[in-house]
Order: sequence, then structure tokens, then C-alpha cells
Amino acid sequence: MGLPIRPVVIAHRGASGYLPEHTFPAKALAYTMGADYLEQDVVATHDDELVVLHDIHLDRVTNVAALFPDRQRDDGRYFVRDFTLSEIRSLHVHERTNSQGEPVYPNRFQSSGEEFRVHTFSEELAFIAALQNSVGRPVGIYPEIKNPEWHRQEGVDITPLFLDVLLKFGYDSHSAPVYVQCFDDQELIRIRELLDCDLKLIQLIGENDWGEAKTDYDELRTARGLKRLSNTVDGIGPWVNFLYRQRSGGRIEDSGLVSAAHGEGLAVHPYTFRRDDLPPGFETLSELLHFVFDELSVDGLFTDFPDLAIAEINR
Ligand code: CA
Repeated sequence: MGLPIRPVVIAHRGASGYLPEHTFPAKALAYTMGADYLEQDVVATHDDELVVLHDIHLDRVTNVAALFPDRQRDDGRYFVRDFTLSEIRSLHVHERTNSQGEPVYPNRFQSSGEEFRVHTFSEELAFIAALQNSVGRPVGIYPEIKNPEWHRQEGVDITPLFLDVLLKFGYDSHSAPVYVQCFDDQELIRIRELLDCDLKLIQLIGENDWGEAKTDYDELRTARGLKRLSNTVDGIGPWVNFLYRQRSGGRIEDSGLVSAAHGEGLAVHPYTFRRDDLPPGFETLSELLHFVFDELSVDGLFTDFPDLAIAEINR
């Protein structure tokens, strides 16, 4: 037995509890706080450029509706795929809002967004390389390919473009400090087998009715599903709610998912740990962190508040 390995802290869209998600300041803050990995979500523009945005839409985090009022689709949404990179660069980026335009997290950083812009995937990897060079602490990256099947329907095969960027920045082997994540199990099989990619891969697991991909997540969480996953990926990124059950009187009970995944040699990096948005049955983030670290022994987690997760690990 080697020394116990400390769980890794993945800054979810940067230190997004404190600054608007996926902006450079949010990434720099997460780095300074000591996060082990910085997350990117990657979406393709009209001119096939890759940008770092969580949604295939622009309307929840930018002023796109004010700047380009006539460019929404029939469903009223503004799609990244309908805008060129240069148009997207003209947008301001603010804290996430809901469909009514109200802040999702009112106590987070609220501003007009004038001070923040969208950037490309390459620009972010260059930014992270420069940060590591100036500060000296190594940090990993944790990029997600968003909706690969939807992108294909929109006329772009996003995955090879995404892998090319990683290669260009030297992320080229299994030991490279990167985890590639995706909700689409078929795409991960394609990456591993057809595209012959050796990078560490993470299968994200959500609810089937979220419509993230055609993947059957209920099946993936079974013993058979986990065994099959272990042929392709290095770990799973499950929704935190799948890790436990609530019994009568509010008692929290391990669902067994973490140990079942560990039994197949899979790392477990659940999402998303937020001080201001806790899953049912937990009163504080600290209580939740204590449960997943000390009782379940997760290998890492995605959090909007990397400093709080690191403080809990160091306690
Ligand atoms: Ca993500």
C-alpha cells in the first residue's frame, strides 16, 4: 500500500462561486486558491472556433439579446453555433441568469459584465501555461466536450478539433495533467478506440431526462454498466445526488456507487459542490464535504468554491 492519495479539487468553471463562470479572472482565482484542476467546457462557434462556455446557448451569461436582438432561433434561444468568434468576442459576460433574466445565485459577483469577455479554448490553455510559468505551481486541466452529437447535426465534428488543441499544448499521453470529460458514452468509446486517444477519460453521469446525450445513465450506474465503462474510461463524474440515499428521519446512507466504481478500478469525481446550492439532506457544504471525503472516499470533486474544498481536505 502506498501513501493515501489526497482527493483532487476541480475548479468547476473556475472559482465560479466568486467570479462569473469561465472568465479568466475566475480561472486565475481558482489557480491561486490551489485548485488541482481547472475546468473548461468547450463549444463550437459558427466559424468552427472552440470557445469556453458552459452552454450551447449564449443568453444566460452574456448580453447577446441586447446586442443581437434578431438572432435567436424559434425557441427564443441564442446559439453559440450561430455566431462567429468575432461577434462572440464583442459580448459582455455576467453571472448566470435564469430564463427571466434574474440572477441564479444573487449573492455571487453581480456586475454589468462589461469587464469580462468570452475566450477560446486555445487562449485558455495558453493562459494556464503562462500562469504556471509565472507562479511556478503545476495545475491540471479538465475540459468537457459539450454535446458532440448536437454539434455534428450542426455540421461540425467538435471532438477532433478539441483533441487537436490539446495536442498542440502538449497534452498527449495518459500521464499528461488532463482529464477529458463527456456525457456521451459513445463519443468516449470513439475517442479511445477510433481516434486512438490515450488521455485520461471521465464518463459524466446525470439523469436520463436531462437530455445531455442518448446515453442510458441508469444502466451505467449498475454493476454491469460500471464494468463496461472500465474498458474505456479512467473514472466517472456522477451527480452528487447519486452517491447517497435519504432514509427516514433524514438519515443519509451511502448508495454504494463509489465503492462499486472503485471495485472496477474507476476514479470517482462527483459534481457539483456549492455553498449556496446544497443537495437534499445536507445543511452545510462542510457537512457534505466531510461525508464524501471521509465516508465515501471520493477521489476528487467539482466545486464552485475550490478554497472551501481545499480547507476541508487540509483539516
Ligand atoms: Ca462541465
